[in-house]
Amino acid sequence: MIYSAIDVEPEQLTTWVAKFFANAGRGLNVTIPHKQSLLTMPSRLSERARRAGALNTLARDAHGQLVGDNTDGVGLIRDLTEHLGLTITAHRILLLGAGGAARGVIAPLLEMLPTQLTIANRTFERAEALAKAFAALGPVRATALADLQGSFDLIINATATSLRGEAPALPASALDRRTVCYDMGYSDQDTAFVRWAREHGAARACMGLGMLIEQAAESFYLWRGVRPNTAGIRAALGVSP
Ligand code: NAP
Repeated sequence: MIYSAIDVEPEQLTTWVAKFFANAGRGLNVTIPHKQSLLTMPSRLSERARRAGALNTLARDAHGQLVGDNTDGVGLIRDLTEHLGLTITAHRILLLGAGGAARGVIAPLLEMLPTQLTIANRTFERAEALAKAFAALGPVRATALADLQGSFDLIINATATSLRGEAPALPASALDRRTVCYDMGYSDQDTAFVRWAREHGAARACMGLGMLIEQAAESFYLWRGVRPNTAGIRAALGVSP
């Protein structure tokens, strides 16, 4: 098997993907900034990709049809609940960001029945649009990052700031002694958001490598019909526990 990173210009994306599958490619992942632009390409979208309005996986189904799926949500929830032992049910969750990554995790988070899911984004209108789109699934509200008030049990950073070595501008009052911070971003060093969380007294601060591994395992399952045991790769990458 060959699985490698390929940088494709947005205007060449659909042609590139069509060629990949025409040349017997089994499946692929797409990431920032392509998660929404490919939505109309597959013959079918999974329920979770349709709900998210974003996809990260393309695969062929048993009839050879192209299917778009989104494994980010299941990857995040598995890492949070099964590996990190965190509780979402009846907890106050803050989701920072309103891009492709945020879209993919809102429905799975609401399925876990939090007390409230607050989406805070630099551009308020994008957070508001997401809160409206998912309102039927649970208690979700939107705020501008600059107007954020109150504290939270779990803060998930789904902004692209970690890619630039920055952290979103968050008031220290968003944290209390029990708050857990989770950065979907990751790096071989602590990300700026993880450092910020530790400096401001978060109970725990983790990076998103565990989510990366779990969403990849779910994608592999869609391509090959085998769900990999992720313990070995977690250990190899130093993801605890
Ligand atoms: P995206 O669609 O480009 O969205 C970017 C988001 O970040 C937007 O909400 C944007 O706000 C916000 N943002 C950018 N710069 C900011 C700043 N300086 N301050 C505050 N907010 C800022 O990106 P994406 O696809 O959602 O990816 C977001 C992050 O999630 C990336 O770091 C990606 O690597 C990570 N991710 C990780 C995993 C994993 O498996 N661990 C999976 C998926 C994604 P505006 O709307 O105001 O522009």
